[in-house]
Amino acid sequence: MSLAHGHDLIAIPGPSPVPARVLNAAHRASPDIYDDGLAEFNLSVMAQLKRLAGTTQNLAPYIGNGHAGWEASAANLFDCGDHVLVITCGHFGRSWAQMLEEMGIKVERLDFGNLPSDPARLAERLAQDRNRTIRAVMVCQTDTASATMADIPALKAAMSGHPALLVVDAIASLGCAPMKMDEWGVDVLIAASQKGMMCLPGTSFVWFSDRAAEQGRKQGVSPYWNWTLRAQSQALWRFWGGTPPVQQIFALHEALTMIMEEEGLPAVWTRHARLARVVWAAVDAWGANGSGIALPVRDPQTRALSVTAVTMPRADELRAWVTRECGVTLGVGLGADDPAGALRIAHMGHCNAAMMMGALGAIEAGLTALDIPHGHGALEAAATSIARF
Ligand SMILES: *Cc1c(COP(=O)(O)O)cnc(C)c1O
Repeated sequence: MSLAHGHDLIAIPGPSPVPARVLNAAHRASPDIYDDGLAEFNLSVMAQLKRLAGTTQNLAPYIGNGHAGWEASAANLFDCGDHVLVITCGHFGRSWAQMLEEMGIKVERLDFGNLPSDPARLAERLAQDRNRTIRAVMVCQTDTASATMADIPALKAAMSGHPALLVVDAIASLGCAPMKMDEWGVDVLIAASQKGMMCLPGTSFVWFSDRAAEQGRKQGVSPYWNWTLRAQSQALWRFWGGTPPVQQIFALHEALTMIMEEEGLPAVWTRHARLARVVWAAVDAWGANGSGIALPVRDPQTRALSVTAVTMPRADELRAWVTRECGVTLGVGLGADDPAGALRIAHMGHCNAAMMMGALGAIEAGLTALDIPHGHGALEAAATSIARF
């Protein structure tokens, strides 16, 4: 008999759990979209979003998921044939590179497989670019598939003396890990609502520096995607390129208030870092005695704070078991060298210690039920990490 009935526990890295308060905030009848009060309210949410990213510069919102943010930013930055360098550390970096290529951009990959980037290799490559043809360096702060985290200030330092723009995909990290767009010199930042922002899927955001606006494509930006029209607009409909997603704007306001006004952004970052360590402690314990269970990203400094990748024999069977028997959904081994032998545990957004213990406890039960060899003491290690951080 399955023990899966009750409150589901979803531990996939997006869409992440949406707080009931945020769902309730969206549960409103449509207001008059030409009302001045609504336009003001929208601007206040845009101001919250700028604070979340650590910028006072420009923001263009889009109705669309993260892929829309990718395409919108590229449509504003590049002409066909422009040369860009994409740092790839996993499935998402690789998909981004492919999309750019399909848009006619000349993409060069600085490839790290499924492992974290090395700023020294970026510095080396840029030093060879004597004619300065590389227009932008593009990188995922967190590649959600490999659960790696890039050191954005170190990558920026590696670009010193080269005029390329720094474009960062923070879709899986904004609201989970520190981001200080202006202080770090990020030119373009992309995020979406359904991960660290704890909201419904369906909106994405492109923050861009004045420098990016100057160096971006001047002519031929298709009007719907044009970031200047959106960022400089006061009219609500123009901001969103048509009818604004009003219920989502209410939801965003609630979620951003929880993150920035109530818990506080530094505390949110610390909570993610602590929950990540709870998960790492358990995986390290399972990995004892050569069980083959391991964290593929060895250096904790380069691990994502919002999701952990685990290599584990028969991970696909284990995932099916914990869903069927315990009501826990874990992430698939997306883009892993051996996807059947990999899974991901999300600790992204609206998550707490009890949820992590629940997910880890279900995995422990699954390892036992399926006779997958594993080291002991994982739950105790996780509990100790909660108790004595
Ligand atoms: C989820 C994700 C995307 C894609 O976002 P969608 O909303 O699914 O289009 C892109 N990059 C990263 C790093 C992601 O985590």
